[in-house]
Amino acid sequence: MSVVVITGASSGIGWATAEVLADAGHRVVLGARRVERLAELSEKIGGASYRRLDVTDSADVQSFVDWAVAEHGRVDVIVNNAGVMPLSALERLKLDEWNRMIDVNIRGVLHGIAAGLPVMRRQGGGHFVNVASIGAHEVVPTAAVYCATKYAVWALSEGLRQETGPDIRVTTISPGVTESELADTITDADAAAGMRTYRATTIPATAIARAIAYAIEQPAEVDVNEIIVRPAA
Ligand code: NDP
Repeated sequence: MSVVVITGASSGIGWATAEVLADAGHRVVLGARRVERLAELSEKIGGASYRRLDVTDSADVQSFVDWAVAEHGRVDVIVNNAGVMPLSALERLKLDEWNRMIDVNIRGVLHGIAAGLPVMRRQGGGHFVNVASIGAHEVVPTAAVYCATKYAVWALSEGLRQETGPDIRVTTISPGVTESELADTITDADAAAGMRTYRATTIPATAIARAIAYAIEQPAEVDVNEIIVRPAA
């Protein structure tokens, strides 16, 4: 069974992933800013380790991963899942929201890689699971910056895979529209209205959690590079 660090475990896909993996016998380590949610999840799944985490702060991510190693002796998998999606048309010039998406969705993943890679090298192996999006493959109006961050996650994952194999596996998970709180970060009224239509059909977050479990549970020589999961058309 693996020790699995999950960022953004306080809701949606991260929460479901913790439940599915804990149920399968893995030891999950939960991080997010809303620590009261993590306490609730930890209790629900039988007492997982959890800690407040802000992925935009590289030192915080480093100490989170170091703490996971201290608690469990190793970190087999890091699920870089934390993300935000405050959509708006570029013409709205919401620079703060653009920067927040870059900070959480791109820098957050880079901070996870920076903290985890030396640990995995020392252990002789490990696995990064980076949550991108169907938005890493196609751009839709109001989502240019969000999609750009997810294209970046895709590119970082592919580069990491090329540079670190065979001991370190890298999986990109690209969900389509999935039940979660992600759309709550939208402040722009037009983008929010558009998203309500776009998100009319969703799949449960457990569908993505099961895809993550599938990638993790392959034999060490099998590297699942990308899984795209979306609602049946
Ligand atoms: P949620 O909003 O439900 O979950 C997002 C998680 O990210 C929360 O746990 C939140 O926790 C965490 N988070 C946000 N900012 C930070 C931060 N600075 N530091 C640490 N954690 C942070 O959305 P999803 O579950 O849908 O999102 C998970 C991932 O899936 C994201 O990367 C998203 O882009 C991706 N995705 C989702 C899709 C969907 O349709 N739902 C489709 C494609 C991709 P807290 O606020 O407590 O810190």
